[in-house]
Amino acid sequence: MNTTKEEFNIPNVIIDPKTRAQYAKGKFLGKGGFARCYELTDVNTGQIYAGKIVPKTMLVKPHQKEKMQQEVTIHQSLTHKHIVQFFSYFEDENYVYIILELCRRRSLMELHRRRKTVTEPETRYFVKQIVDACLYLHEKRIIHRDLKLGNLFLNDQMEIKIGDFGLATRMENDSDRKRTLCGTPNYIAPEVINKKGHGYEVDVWSLGCVLYTLLIGKPPFETTTLKDTYSKIRKNDYEIPPNCISPESCLLIQRCLQHDPQERPSMRKISQDIFFSGFTPATLPTSVCTIAPRYS
Ligand code: ADP
Repeated sequence: MNTTKEEFNIPNVIIDPKTRAQYAKGKFLGKGGFARCYELTDVNTGQIYAGKIVPKTMLVKPHQKEKMQQEVTIHQSLTHKHIVQFFSYFEDENYVYIILELCRRRSLMELHRRRKTVTEPETRYFVKQIVDACLYLHEKRIIHRDLKLGNLFLNDQMEIKIGDFGLATRMENDSDRKRTLCGTPNYIAPEVINKKGHGYEVDVWSLGCVLYTLLIGKPPFETTTLKDTYSKIRKNDYEIPPNCISPESCLLIQRCLQHDPQERPSMRKISQDIFFSGFTPATLPTSVCTIAPRYS
């Protein structure tokens, strides 16, 4: 049996005491550090959601509760076409439930695993949507702080939906600098490693890493250990293989991956970058999850 005690105990019908909505538990979608995700169908409307279910046994230490509270507070304040919609939050004796917009096509991580490199038109299509969502976040003084392929979800229309606000934070004001980050972001910026104080620029750094990974097929600072990766990040030691991507995408990556956060462009500036003037498909078929489209 491949079921843990927690999974075994998750009820088959979940009731939201606030709205009295009843959800039937369906397909298992995946698990993260804290949560297990299932398809949940509202039995009255037939609407299907993604239910993030966190056992309370995972929320014993004060900082774990805090992280969860932070995630919920930030995520429930957001409404954007390219951000996973937050619908409800409630709990019972054993679990905390978060009802989210369902993203059936998994994430850019699975797409990258199948495809390795992605074409420039597709990259422009995805990155434009990510930048759009980040513009909205930064305008609301929110930094995601963990933009990575696995948090860039896809729905059936192959639209990007940014999710997992577990490391997100809200800035008090424009000159605020964050000193701490409780967790290990995947595409961590040098100023976070060096504990120098950080801001919106960390999302720009991560975006540069996403761009690099999609176009070149592997992360820019990849090594076999976290220690070596951090050392490479501190030294800004990455290479773009010659003649494999366009000069426009190469320049945008270099702008985003500057060691000095002050030198990096803002999301607004990135949205106006010449990289986005190249051909961008209006939609993508779901077949791109496994095979490259042909643009002739
Ligand atoms: P954690 O915060 O514990 O890391 P995640 O938010 O990463 O949890 O979710 C765990 C997994 O559940 C994800 O890797 C993904 O497979 C799945 N998942 C999360 N959110 C959704 C969603 N909105 N739609 C579909 N699947 C999701």
